[in-house]
Amino acid sequence: MTAIAQNLQRLRSQLLPSVKLVAVSKFHPIPALIQAYEAGQRIFGESRVQELQQKVGEMPADVEWHFIGHLQPNKVKYIAPYVSLIHAVDTPKLLAEIDKQGRRVGRRIRCLLQVHVAREETKFGFLPDELLEFMRSGQWREHEWAQISGMMCMATNTDDMQRVSADFEQAHKLFLQIKRDFFAADEHFRECSWGMSHDFEEAMQHGATLVRIGTDIFGEREY
Ligand SMILES: *Cc1c(COP(=O)(O)O)cnc(C)c1O
Repeated sequence: MTAIAQNLQRLRSQLLPSVKLVAVSKFHPIPALIQAYEAGQRIFGESRVQELQQKVGEMPADVEWHFIGHLQPNKVKYIAPYVSLIHAVDTPKLLAEIDKQGRRVGRRIRCLLQVHVAREETKFGFLPDELLEFMRSGQWREHEWAQISGMMCMATNTDDMQRVSADFEQAHKLFLQIKRDFFAADEHFRECSWGMSHDFEEAMQHGATLVRIGTDIFGEREY
């Protein structure tokens, strides 16, 4: 068994049954992805459009591609024909563009709203109050081709796991509030994308349904 297959096997034994694993393959070469694929992995996450475009052509057709990184609206058109979930919608403008491109290619594109809960200046996402305000605006209801399917966040990048847990807890409370107030009758709004290699345990304690894991599967990335 390859190291990647072993890593996947170990990880699967650690994930709650309700949690799906996104294998974050950014910066890793195709042979590494193939090893994960042969070990049964089907959901892969990439964070750069050009890299994703290249990999799509080289991997089997039944891979589910998730775009997990910051996405510029002008690049949505490249991934709209095949992307299965866009994790990090951080502006109304990006959501509107996903809607536009979904309409163009005739696909309802699933996406998650990114909330900024980390105690850091540098991360993208709606602030909690901005997100609530955007939801109350009702503007998103016009976007029938952008299928809002839940939320995504990144916790503060720290070894203080109480801090990390508090971030996930805040995101989950917001998810539950938005679910109750705006999507009570919509079964599509159900995903909580949080947790990476170093904090997926904490994420699972706070409602994660998707964990995005790279290093624990593929090893360190070379930039
Ligand atoms: C790279 C990345 C991950 C994976 O991080 P690891 O620490 O390697 O597990 C998860 N989410 C996002 C948004 C990323 O960019």
